[in-house]
Amino acid sequence: MPAEPDQPIQYTLKVGDTRLPLNDLIGRAIQIDYDGVIRCIHCDRKTKKSFGQGYCFPCFRKLAACDSCIVSPEKCHYHEGTCREPEWGETHCMIEHVVYLANSSGLKVGITRGTQIPTRWIDQGAVAALPIVRVSTRQLAGFVEVICKQHVADRTNWRAMLKGGVAELDLAAERDRLLDLIRPELDALRQAHGEVAIREVDEAGLSLSYPVQVWPDKVKSHNLDKTPSVTGVLQGIKGQYLMLDTGVINIRKFTAYEVRFQVLA
Ligand SMILES: [Zn+2]
Repeated sequence: MPAEPDQPIQYTLKVGDTRLPLNDLIGRAIQIDYDGVIRCIHCDRKTKKSFGQGYCFPCFRKLAACDSCIVSPEKCHYHEGTCREPEWGETHCMIEHVVYLANSSGLKVGITRGTQIPTRWIDQGAVAALPIVRVSTRQLAGFVEVICKQHVADRTNWRAMLKGGVAELDLAAERDRLLDLIRPELDALRQAHGEVAIREVDEAGLSLSYPVQVWPDKVKSHNLDKTPSVTGVLQGIKGQYLMLDTGVINIRKFTAYEVRFQVLA
């Protein structure tokens, strides 16, 4: 989280019970060694492979958080009585969600729970973001996102995001343009689900800055599955990536991996 407006986001890496303040390590050489053990973040069982960024296969098959409707919220099946964990669904999906515009590697649309702002934006390496529609459930957010996707990308080009130099965008103007384009479809959704369930909002956006000393010319990525030992000078942190002079590493991807983290110099 940014400590103050205009200040770079402060990153902490959790290794075991230790929390490492990463911003302090920028400019220093670090080494990450993966020992070959992955422990499921839900049940702590050892697993040969990580599923859904940190789960064992049984948990991946069983938990609502790992269901395909989490990736495609418009496919939520709670109302059919088939939610894998209805209580989890009630606290995570059947609550207010936000549809937002962000500038990560250019304009994109996304959705998140209200409580995940600005964490979700930071995760995506967005330099700015703006809520545009508030809805009463995750599925409705999915419906609105599907409509928006006809006009706006929903993916981040992570290589472009990590190269920096993302052009500024007037997100409020983009919101007005997009909402005008999709209004007939939003009206149809409101007719089906109720006026209060889908609200266009005019809210302040947020600008985010990341602690980056040097932007890479070429983005090459490290993979602990192929090369269990990674060394390099930490030059910056953006989104889910540590940026080393030897390549970038998506730390989120290696959640649940047992590693040793060293500061070399
Ligand atoms: Zn598990």
